[in-house]
Amino acid sequence: MSEAKRFDEKSDFIKNTDKNPSNIQPKKLTLDSPLQFECHPGVPCFTACCHNIKIVLTPYDILILSRRLELPAHEFITAYTQPTYLEKTDMPGVQIKLTEDKKACPFVTPDGCTVYSDRPTACRYYPVGMADFHEGGTDNAEEEKFFFLVKEPHCKGFEEPKHWTIREWREDQGVEERDEFNKEWLRLVMRRKSFGHQASLSEAAKRMFFMASTDLDSFRRFVFESSFLDTYEIDEETIEKIRNDDIELMRFSFTYLANTLFGAEGMEITKEKIDDKVKEIKARQDEALKQGEREYLELKAERERLRKEEEKNKAKK
Ligand code: SF4
Ligand code: SF4
Repeated sequence: MSEAKRFDEKSDFIKNTDKNPSNIQPKKLTLDSPLQFECHPGVPCFTACCHNIKIVLTPYDILILSRRLELPAHEFITAYTQPTYLEKTDMPGVQIKLTEDKKACPFVTPDGCTVYSDRPTACRYYPVGMADFHEGGTDNAEEEKFFFLVKEPHCKGFEEPKHWTIREWREDQGVEERDEFNKEWLRLVMRRKSFGHQASLSEAAKRMFFMASTDLDSFRRFVFESSFLDTYEIDEETIEKIRNDDIELMRFSFTYLANTLFGAEGMEITKEKIDDKVKEIKARQDEALKQGEREYLELKAERERLRKEEEKNKAKK
């Protein structure tokens, strides 16, 4: 397998807007590696990369973009996105819906990106991809993080004279901050990917993942208007935080999903719920025992009846 292909397979999908391995430079870079690149309205290819592109949105991207557009999350999702599967798994997510005619991002104009300061994570990453082996689903994998360049043939940004280090570029693009917000969610997807097809997620689990990942308003209603808070031990401080703070709620949703989808720690079921469950199981067992006893007695009676019938028949003879 070529180095470039290997990079592509191991890198996190959201951090790399281009999936054509031939555009990936097979050279491992560090934060201190030099980068010659600049993107600005003067480049001849300006906005070319905002067409014919797949941009998967993270929960944080959705939160920030729907705030920017002053839309409830579900309206944003309906108007600007289309469903996709994340990283070749069965986990549902969304990607930006391109325009019918020009296959353009709905936020691009000839003057550039109309949501630039709130643009999605994937748009910030180009042209520096990151491979983070630690996020590949295992908790104890040795962390190995490195960077690589994605050079699309049409991109003239590499001909600009501006020099940076990878670290400076990432700071300028606000990537570190995004990584922090996206990290736990990405780990869920990569964890699922590392499971392969051995176990399938139930439809209910997929629906929950999609709801929590794309629509925090609905997730908040689920938490506060169902029996959720009676089921899980959640301290008062957390309840108050997630009631009013979307970022806290988003982080909480990642913990909840990791717990329900992968059995990760971080959420405890209340003692009352466990006691109720134990009672329910015991009641079911008692009922099964009684049923067994009834069946045994019926069988015994039937055998007795047959024995008597047999004796009667013998006596007749
Ligand atoms: S969100 Fe902005 S930067 Fe990203 S593809 Fe759309 S127009 Fe381009
Ligand atoms: S193709 Fe490259 S230089 Fe051109 S607009 Fe996109 S990122 Fe900027």
